[in-house]
Amino acid sequence: MEGEIWRVIYREYGSTGIALSVIGFGGMRFENQDDLDGSAELVLQAYENGINYFDTAPLYGKSEKIFGIAFKEMKKTRKERPFFVSTKTLQEDPTKVREDLEKSLKKMDFDYIDFYHVWAILTPDAYQRRKAKNVLREFERLKEEGLIRHICVSTHMTGEDIGDMLRDYPFEGVLLGYSAMNFAYRDHGVATAALLKRGVVVMNPLGGGIIPNHSDRFDFVRTQENETVVEGALRFLINDPRITVALVGFANQKQLAEAISAVEGFKPISSEQIENIKSGLNRSFDKLCTSCRYCDYCPVEIPLPQLMESYNHLELNSDYFITRVGLHWGLSLEEDYAARCIDCGLCETLCTQKLPIRERLKIVQQEIFRRKNKSDAGTGCC
Ligand code: SF4
Ligand code: SF4
Repeated sequence: MEGEIWRVIYREYGSTGIALSVIGFGGMRFENQDDLDGSAELVLQAYENGINYFDTAPLYGKSEKIFGIAFKEMKKTRKERPFFVSTKTLQEDPTKVREDLEKSLKKMDFDYIDFYHVWAILTPDAYQRRKAKNVLREFERLKEEGLIRHICVSTHMTGEDIGDMLRDYPFEGVLLGYSAMNFAYRDHGVATAALLKRGVVVMNPLGGGIIPNHSDRFDFVRTQENETVVEGALRFLINDPRITVALVGFANQKQLAEAISAVEGFKPISSEQIENIKSGLNRSFDKLCTSCRYCDYCPVEIPLPQLMESYNHLELNSDYFITRVGLHWGLSLEEDYAARCIDCGLCETLCTQKLPIRERLKIVQQEIFRRKNKSDAGTGCC
């Protein structure tokens, strides 16, 4: 099901029958969270423009509270203009899962949550652990009780691991990081989700701010004259029918307007143009890791794809390097990965970009130790 209503395109989330706007509102980057009413106004404006998917989480600062203020107003028109709410829990103890849900319901003043996520599955072990601790069973109970409508999962795992997880459990949808910058890393997960008819919401569609902050180097995402790189990067995702929603963490009205304009001016992108975008990463960044994961065979199990992707953030002067390593990839900031290297050189032989992985590993390690106690950790995860 796909159609155009208001100013946004809508797509069905998996096989739920629910039509969601292809641009969703991610509530993790409000410019000034202390301005509750001003932030809620931004949410209302998104709703007025046809956005109907709103994603938050208990650890996004005052996000649930801000959404709660906006939802109070939006509830007045929910019948004729439905909207859908997504939130999450990190808890591994079923009792605490329920407590988290109750808190979210209270903060946003709802009787149920539309899309409730098992939050931030970083590794297959972490998935198995939550399963073994009956987290999924608790989600099923909450659904039976009508407190949640759909059981979903959010993850930063590789595409292959995501595929395995979706085959293992009938999550109705998955939330994962995917953009013109790292599509190779999770493409298999997106393909599996589409095959199994699960919803796909992509977070970090602008590479955690890297794409707009380096518009000259991401020029290759533009397929129309006069479009911005933000529009180009969003249209790259909108063009992919496997993706239900691209979740943008809006900070202000300008960003909202740009995303709406990306949808309004959307024209199908040819497969040739898509291939051109995909190869653009290599052309524009001969020194950047493309997340292809060919190096993921380190004999001492150093998580090279994750560390090399984090190196990109150093290379592009991103503020979110530590967030990337710790929060996004779930890697320990205490471990000395570089010290484990036995200098076999296999990774560099395998690297599609012929990157100096060993040298970068040392730099990444130094930066982890140097920055770990400084607070660049924050909202760059999604
Ligand atoms: S050179 Fe070091 S990092 Fe690369 S594969 Fe060998 S042990 Fe792993
Ligand atoms: S093989 Fe090279 S480009 Fe691919 S993930 Fe590893 S470091 Fe990155």
